[in-house]
Amino acid sequence: MNPLLSKPRIFRFAPSPNGRLHLGHALSAFLNHDKAREKGGRFLLRIEDIDTTRCTPEFETAIYEDLAWLGLAWENPVRRQSDHLDLYRDALDRLFERGLVYPALLSRGEIKAAVARFEAEGKQWPRDPDGTPHYPGTERTLSSAGRREILDSGRPHALRLDMGNAIAQLDAGLSWQETGAGPQGETGLIAADPAAWGDVVLSRSDAPSSYHLAVTVDDALQGVTDVVRGRDLFHATAVHRLLQHLLGLPEPGYHHHRLIPGADGRKLSKSNGDTGIVAFREAGRSPGDIRAMVL
Ligand code: GLU
Repeated sequence: MNPLLSKPRIFRFAPSPNGRLHLGHALSAFLNHDKAREKGGRFLLRIEDIDTTRCTPEFETAIYEDLAWLGLAWENPVRRQSDHLDLYRDALDRLFERGLVYPALLSRGEIKAAVARFEAEGKQWPRDPDGTPHYPGTERTLSSAGRREILDSGRPHALRLDMGNAIAQLDAGLSWQETGAGPQGETGLIAADPAAWGDVVLSRSDAPSSYHLAVTVDDALQGVTDVVRGRDLFHATAVHRLLQHLLGLPEPGYHHHRLIPGADGRKLSKSNGDTGIVAFREAGRSPGDIRAMVL
């Protein structure tokens, strides 16, 4: 094909400004940046700041500083999710109109108590791939008028996907192309299992969109062709594929990369001060040292 006619591949690094970037982020950013360069593609940076209880402008500024210090250049303007809440709301409305979303009233504490009561009888309550118990689905059977009534009542609620109903909309199983590997080394064409997640949250009273919804809408809107991210999000891809199908959005390719463990062997978190990029910088390490450490 004439390369001038083929569309460029689009990669994105999508951190949340809820802490300083660590070595795992450096790996993700380098991989996205380098693959984009290698393929003559584009490298985008997206700020995933819908969780206003944890994200701050100071951490956002620090992301720009850390990435620039690492020697990475991204396109401007940077997309910031909190600037586009109306778009996630539109997507949610479309799913609601089709009866695929219901308002869920149980708080985290109430869900925990319901699960504990159930498991006290020696039975096993289903859990998602991250270990979180599935929502009991108390309001799933409400009519659309009943659902609307809760919305209009002003009672605090989350909006959840009716997973059973959503899966019933599929005429074939969902899959995705994986060029990296999952936690068990899965690669190639992967069968997606969104049911494993139960009725996922699509928005909460204090967060107008969930990560799943915003990431799916934004990847499509930005024309992302290649999602390169940590293996901790491998199983979440099943939910993203389902939402893409329901919302009529294109399917990117996926590459899940290894996670960098901390000194204690556990997954790095943003509170791991000693593996923060800034800590290495202050200790006199160079961007080349960071590259050598993670790649
Ligand atoms: N914002 C997510 C994070 O900080 C990454 C989302 C993604 O790459 O799909 O872990």
